[in-house]
Amino acid sequence: MSSMLDYFTNLTDIEIKIDYPLEEYTHFRTGGPAEILIQPQTAEAAADIVAICHEQDIPLQVLGKGCNVLVADRGIPGVTLLLASKMARYDVAGDQLFLQAGLSIAEACALAARNSLTGLEFACGIPGSIGGALRMNAGAYDGSFQNLVIRTQYIDQTGTMGWVEGDEHEHAYRSSVFANNNWIITQTVLQLAKGERQAIYRRMAENARKRRESQPLEYASGGSAFKRPAGNFAGKLITEAGLKGLRMGSCGVSKKHAGFIVNYGKAKSSEIMAVFIKVQDEVKKQFGIDLEPEVEFIGDWSGEPMARTGRTG
Ligand SMILES: Cc1cc2nc3c(=O)[nH]c(=O)nc-3n(C[C@H](O)[C@H](O)[C@H](O)COP(=O)(O)OP(=O)(O)OC[C@H]3O[C@@H](n4cnc5c(N)ncnc54)[C@H](O)[C@@H]3O)c2cc1C
Repeated sequence: MSSMLDYFTNLTDIEIKIDYPLEEYTHFRTGGPAEILIQPQTAEAAADIVAICHEQDIPLQVLGKGCNVLVADRGIPGVTLLLASKMARYDVAGDQLFLQAGLSIAEACALAARNSLTGLEFACGIPGSIGGALRMNAGAYDGSFQNLVIRTQYIDQTGTMGWVEGDEHEHAYRSSVFANNNWIITQTVLQLAKGERQAIYRRMAENARKRRESQPLEYASGGSAFKRPAGNFAGKLITEAGLKGLRMGSCGVSKKHAGFIVNYGKAKSSEIMAVFIKVQDEVKKQFGIDLEPEVEFIGDWSGEPMARTGRTG
């Protein structure tokens, strides 16, 4: 371990933590330690870290605000690159927002509203970072990030920095060029439009209210557990399978919204995984439909039962 650490100790603009528990960095409030947790303050520092990991064959996992991931109880081997909070600068020019990847979606929404810019209202209440949102093409109600993003800076797997524009983002439902290639987002430019400030605040408050009413925000979760299957809804299938409110120890399927798997307090990631598996198996058995997790399973899950992800590698 110390030899792996040696590669990073001479870098500037970074903060390093060793064997650091990830519970506090994940929305499920679970997960073992990051072997080496590095928080870069600049895109260049992040690129240096990626280049070292590439050259030295060190496993690398990126983490934003941990709202869409389930981290293994054994933790994450190698380097966990944490972009939230330290890389969170922003700027406004006319009706464009310039946002670093670690800025929270909530701060971006507040920035837009303060500047009377409309377009981001749909995102009000989606937890997470701008980087995570662009990778997952986060969306809600009538909007998604793909409708706003015009240019994004990224780091490829070798540590080389580049930009994509417009269609090059390859945004589709919960997917992007960044997810397809495992690229790391460092900053982006969103195109909004001039609007009326009070109306923007009203729409944001309305969306936040709808979320409070329909989602189990009082419990730890990863948001929608499964992607929407073609022509159907995961929550509807789970309800019809009789699994709404299913309790398995300290976690289960939410009583309020069957699309959410929640941690009521003390569950471990492996117990939450067991709920994913149970739901997948039951829905497959009753309706012949494969539910694909929207939540990403990261870290060292080797030898543990896992839900089918539909992803390879
Ligand atoms: C209560 C709740 C409600 C939610 N509601 C919605 C919703 O309405 N719509 C929706 O789309 N999602 C929703 N989500 C899911 C989640 O909030 C979004 O997917 C969010 O964009 C994830 O951002 P994050 O920073 O937390 O990403 P993380 O969970 O940290 O990471 C998710 C994935 O993105 C990668 N990643 C993170 N940062 C970067 C980066 N800078 N560059 C490249 N890859 C990166 C990670 O490696 C991982 O693969 C919800 C989640 C919760 C808990």
